[in-house]
Formats: sequence, C-alpha cells, structure tokens
Amino acid sequence: MALFAVIGLGSFGSTIATQLVSLNHDVIGIDNNKRNVESISDQITHAVIADATDEHVLRELNIQNCEAVVVAIGEDIEASILCVLHLKNMGMNKIWAKAKSKAHHMILTHLGVSKIIHPEEDMGTRVAQSLSYPMVSRYMGLEDNHFIVKIEIKASLKGERFNHLMGNIPAIKTILHKRGKEILYNIDPNLILQEGDILVVEGELEPLRKLSARFK
Ligand code: ATP
Repeated sequence: MALFAVIGLGSFGSTIATQLVSLNHDVIGIDNNKRNVESISDQITHAVIADATDEHVLRELNIQNCEAVVVAIGEDIEASILCVLHLKNMGMNKIWAKAKSKAHHMILTHLGVSKIIHPEEDMGTRVAQSLSYPMVSRYMGLEDNHFIVKIEIKASLKGERFNHLMGNIPAIKTILHKRGKEILYNIDPNLILQEGDILVVEGELEPLRKLSARFK
C-alpha cells in the first residue's frame, strides 16, 4: 500500500484517484473547485480544496511524502506547468501529468515529467481499435510495435479448432486460453473453441492484423 496524490479532480483525475483507492492505496486529492472535492471526499483518503499553483499549499499537504503525483489539470496549461515546477522544486521525482496539446506535452517533457498522458487521444485510439477489430476486447501496447491482445470468441467462431484459427501465423504467441474460471497456458492444438472463450495473444501489429481477418 502506498500514498499517492492526484491534483485536479475532473473526470480523469477522480477516476485515477478512486481506482487507486480500490487497489488499496491511500490517495490525497486536490482541486480548487469545491464541488469536485465534495463529490469525491467520501471515496478517497483525503480530499482538499486548494490551489495547486501555490507551493506552500503543496508543502503543507506533505505531497513530497507521496510515492507519485498525478497532475490531472489539462485546460489551464499555466496552472499545470506551475504545479509541476513546484513539485520538482520539492524534489518529487515521480510525476505523471496530463497534457492537452503538443506544446503542453513539450513543456512537460522539458520539466522532466516521468510520464505524459493524453487521455482523449489514448481513449480515441482504444475506441478506434475496438471498432476496427471488434473481437479485441482489450489490448496493451508494449515497446517496439508489440501488443498483448485479449480476444473474445464470438458465436460465429464456435466449434472452430484452435490450431485452425491460430495456426500458420508463427509470429503470434498465444499466452493463455480461458474458459469460465479455468485458465490453460499449454493449449491443445485440437481444442475446440466455444463462444465466450478468451484468448490472450502477443505479437506485432502486422501479424495481428492478419489474424483479425480470420475473426470477421
Ligand atoms: P477532465 O477532462 O478530467 O474531466 P476537466 O475537463 O474538468 O477535466 P481540466 O482543465 O483538465 O478540465 O481540469 C481538471 C481539474 O483540475 C478540474 O476539476 C479543475 O477544477 C482542476 N484545477 C484546475 N486548475 C487548478 C488549480 N490551480 N488547482 C487545483 N485544481 C485545479
């Protein structure tokens, strides 16, 4: 269990804050909007109405003792930058920040922010991916064009043999097969797939595209 701070409790910041709490972490949430703070106050460890561009406030709240800080202010770029500057001054190393534009991203990079998040773009990419590959229910991008993809077997593929569906694309590795609560890591090539089965596979984008054609 660790202590995190989330600065800016709009829909993005408050989702991060409540998710961290559900993962059993303590979270200090800060926003200068009273309504945003009140609506989350009973869901996180400590919710404070404060201006995050004021370094004294950040010091008083002992933000420097947190494992990491998420600066989830996007619209007011000046406030986001000032807040990051103060956090850096206070010696914080692990700062994640949301960026609204390319210029905002560049400035945050120069300030030494550990990770920059573009929520709208990231969400847009996810939505676009699941629209173009409806069988993909989740995916995670790794380095170098590699992806881990969760595939759900739909009714149209019921009765298909595993090696018929997955064979001939050696560049894709099947990590696991899940049916109900049962997870198999060594999959029988003759396994007959059922509707609702889950396959988690790993590979590069091109072979994954090739595979996706078999699901149409
Ligand atoms: P989201 O996209 O997460 O819904 P939003 O659209 O409300 O957010 P943002 O500008 O990204 O807009 O602001 C996120 C939150 O940051 C808001 O709740 C806002 O009140 C808060 N905020 C903005 N400036 C400050 C500041 N100086 N100090 C503390 N909180 C701030």
